[in-house]
Amino acid sequence: MKIPFNKPWFTGKEIQNITSAAAFGHISGNGLYTKKCHEFFENNYGFHRTFLTTSCTDAFEMATILMDIKEGDEVIMPSFTFVSTTSPFILRGANIKFADSLPDHPNIDLDHAEKLITEKTKVLVVMHYGGVAVDMDKAVSICNKYNLILFEDAAHSIDSYYRGKPLGSFGHFAAFSFHETKNISSGEGGLLVINDPAYVKRAEIVWEKGTNRAAFTRGDVEKYEWVDLGASYAPSEMIAAFLYAQLSMITDIQQTRIQIWNHYLENLKPLANKGLINVINIPDFTTNNGHVFYLIAKDKKQRNDLLDYLNKNMIHAVFHYIPLHLSPYYKEKHSGGELINAVRFADTLIRLPLFYELTPEVVDMICDVIKDYFE
Ligand SMILES: *Cc1c(COP(=O)(O)O)cnc(C)c1O
Repeated sequence: MKIPFNKPWFTGKEIQNITSAAAFGHISGNGLYTKKCHEFFENNYGFHRTFLTTSCTDAFEMATILMDIKEGDEVIMPSFTFVSTTSPFILRGANIKFADSLPDHPNIDLDHAEKLITEKTKVLVVMHYGGVAVDMDKAVSICNKYNLILFEDAAHSIDSYYRGKPLGSFGHFAAFSFHETKNISSGEGGLLVINDPAYVKRAEIVWEKGTNRAAFTRGDVEKYEWVDLGASYAPSEMIAAFLYAQLSMITDIQQTRIQIWNHYLENLKPLANKGLINVINIPDFTTNNGHVFYLIAKDKKQRNDLLDYLNKNMIHAVFHYIPLHLSPYYKEKHSGGELINAVRFADTLIRLPLFYELTPEVVDMICDVIKDYFE
C-alpha cells in the first residue's frame, strides 16, 4: 500500500461534540462551540478578536471587505504561496505586486517587497511557510513606515511563534486554515484574527451577512436589520464542534508532528552534510510547528527524478507551489519581472509525508528510499 502524503487524524471526540451540539439544539453558526473555539484562540494566543470562518480563503475575503479594498489598490504578497492569498484581493479589483522569496527560504523577501511599495499600496501580506515565521520585526516596521495594513497568512502557522509571540498576533489581520491538510482540521474551515480593534464592530456585521444580528442577540439594538455589506462566513456549529475536539488535543498533535519532523531531519542530515540535498534553514527567531517537512534538490531534473523514484517506491511525495505569477490565470497579467528564488523553490522543493499516525519506522523506510536513490 502506498504511504499517503497526508492522512486526516481524528481525536475520537469529534462525534461526541457534534452530538452534544445537536442535543443543545443550536446547529447554525455562532453557538456554544463557536464561542468555545473563539475563547480558545483568544485566551491561548492573545489574539484581540477571532471569527471562525468556512475556510481560510473566506477569512481573507471577509477581511478584504473590512479593509475596503477597491479597484486600483495595490497589495504586495509573495508569489510563493497558495491562490487563496491572492484571489480574494483580485475579486475586489486590487492590483497584485508579487515579491520574491528569500535566497535561503521560501518566505517573502521583505527587502524586495519594500521596493514594490508605491503611493497606491494598501496592504502587505506575508505568509509563514511551513509555520516558520517571516522576520516580523522587519515586516511590522515596514508597515509602520509606509502606513500599510499588515496581513499574516497563517494558514500553516497554528501554535508557532516569532521570538516567543504567537504567529497571527502581529498583523492587523491574520487568517488560519483548518483544511484537511493542515495540523488542526475541521475538514474545511478557517479563522479570521483581528488584532486592530478598529475593525471589530464592522466584522461582526460582515460575518453575519451584513446584519446586526450579533448586537441584536446581545440586546444592544432593538431591531435585527440589514446594515452593511456581508456574506455567510460563519460555519455551522457542526464544524465548530469538530474543530473544538481537535483543539483540545493540540499539544499532543503538535508534539507528535514535531517529533516526526525531527526524526526526518536526523535521518537525512548525513545526506545534507555530503551536499547531496538541502534541508530547511530555520532561523533562530522562530519555532517550527511540524507542518511540513521538505527537501531541496539540486535542480528541477533531480527533483522530478527523486519524486518519481519515491512514488515508484509507493511513497506519495509532492512538490509545492507553482508560483502565482507563473500560474495559467495570472502569467499574462504579471508585470513584475523574474522572481528567481520563488521559481527555484518551486522547481526544487519536495515535501515528504507528514501526518499524526506516521510512525518512526515508516519515516526510516522513507529515508532509506531517499538514501538508495543517491547510491
Ligand atoms: C491552505 C492554505 C490556504 C487556504 O486554506 P483554505 O482553508 O483551504 O481556504 C491559504 N493559504 C495558504 C498558504 C494555505 O496553505
